[in-house]
Amino acid sequence: MGAARCIRNVGIPSDSGTLNSSKRGVKTMSENDIEVRVTAELAAAGEAMLALLEKLVNTDSPSRDKAGVDRVGAIIRSFLEAEGIPVEAVANHGFGDVLKASVMPAAGSNAPPVLLMGHRDTVFPLGEAERRPFRRDGARAYGPGVGDMKAGLVVNAFVLRALKRHGGADRPVVGLFTADEEIGSPSSRPVIEREAAAAAAVFNSQPGRANGNVVTGRKGGMFLELVVEGRAAHSGAPPGTGASAIEAVARKVIALHALADAGSGISLNVGVLNGGEVVNMVAPRARAEFDLRYVKLADRAPMLEKIDAIVAAEDVKGARASLGVMSEFLPFEQSADSKALFDCYVGAAADVGLQLGGDFSGGCADSGFAAATGTPTLCGTGPIGAGYHTPDEYIELATVVPRAQALALAVLRAGRL
Ligand SMILES: [Zn+2]
Repeated sequence: MGAARCIRNVGIPSDSGTLNSSKRGVKTMSENDIEVRVTAELAAAGEAMLALLEKLVNTDSPSRDKAGVDRVGAIIRSFLEAEGIPVEAVANHGFGDVLKASVMPAAGSNAPPVLLMGHRDTVFPLGEAERRPFRRDGARAYGPGVGDMKAGLVVNAFVLRALKRHGGADRPVVGLFTADEEIGSPSSRPVIEREAAAAAAVFNSQPGRANGNVVTGRKGGMFLELVVEGRAAHSGAPPGTGASAIEAVARKVIALHALADAGSGISLNVGVLNGGEVVNMVAPRARAEFDLRYVKLADRAPMLEKIDAIVAAEDVKGARASLGVMSEFLPFEQSADSKALFDCYVGAAADVGLQLGGDFSGGCADSGFAAATGTPTLCGTGPIGAGYHTPDEYIELATVVPRAQALALAVLRAGRL
C-alpha cells in the first residue's frame, strides 16, 4: 500500500456546532465529490450519533450475557437495515452472535473490502446501566462502555450509513460487530481472523487515546492458570510425608516473575494466588493466575517454552502442576503496510482539522488478531475518552463527529489504493 497515494490535500466541510472541534471549512472540491458529501453528512449527524450511543450504553452487555450482547446487536442491526444495509449474523450459542454489515459500491466490486471492527460487550455487569445510565455533562458523556467501545460502534455504524447514502466506496466496506473482546474474543476470534485475512485494510474503532492519538501497536497477552496438586498430610508429621502445593506454587511464582524482561517489553505478573485448606494441614492444592504480555509475536513460543519448563519442574517431591490458557490476544505489530495505513489516516484526520499521531499501548485488543493475519491494521479510531473499565469512563463529545469524518475519509482513500 502506498501511503503517498492515499493522502489528498482537500478542504472538507466541518460542523460548527458544539459536537465538532474542527474549525476548518474551506471547500476546494466539487460538491459532488463523495468525500465532501460524506463528511457533510457526518457533520450534520452529531445529535443522531449521540441518540444511538445513548441507546447502546443503556443496554447492558456483559461479555458472558448472550442476551444483552445480542440486544445491543439488534439495535445496531435495525439502525443499519433501516438504511438498506444488509446485515448477516454469524450465529453463536454461547456468546453473542457476530454481525456483519456490508456496503457495496454502486457499481459492484469483487475487491477485498475495508473492514471496520468493534466489540459490543463491556466489562460491566447486568444492572449497571440502570444504576448509572448514559449522561451528558458539559463537554463529556458518561455511562458503562460509553468509550470502550460503544462510541466506536456508533462511529462505525454512521460511517457505513454515510457511505451507503452516497454510493459507497470504490470497494466493499464491511462492518464487523463482535461479541466478546473483553474476555479475549473466544467466540469472535475465528470470525475476526477470517474477515481480516480477506480484507484490504482493517480499522478497529477502540477509543482514541486521551491525547487524541490512535493506536499503532499493542502488546500480545495471555491469561494463564497454574494449578498445583500436592498431597495432604498432618502438618506435624515428619517432613516428606505430604507434598506442599503451597511451597511448590511459591517457588514457581518466583521463577515466573523472573521471566519478565523490561528491555524486551515482556511482563509477567501473578495477579491471583490461593491454596491450602487449614493451618494444620500440608496444602494439597494451590492455584495461581498470571498475565503474560509481550511485544513481538516471535517472543510468544520461547516464552511459553520457559513457562512450561517452570510448570513441569518438580520443586517439591510429589507435587504436580498443570497450566491452562484462560484467554489470549496476539500482539499488534506495526508492519510497513500498517504504517502506510496510519499515514493515510493521519492525512484524512488533518483534513477534518485533527492533528494526531500514533501511540503504542500495553493493552490488548482484537486489532492484534487482525494484524497477525498480515492485513494492514489501525486501532483506536473511535472517539477520544479515558477511564475505561471504571465508573469514571467518559468520552469527549466534541470528538465524535470529527473521528467519524476522519475514519470515513480514510476508508474512502484506503479503498482507492
Ligand atoms: Zn475494554
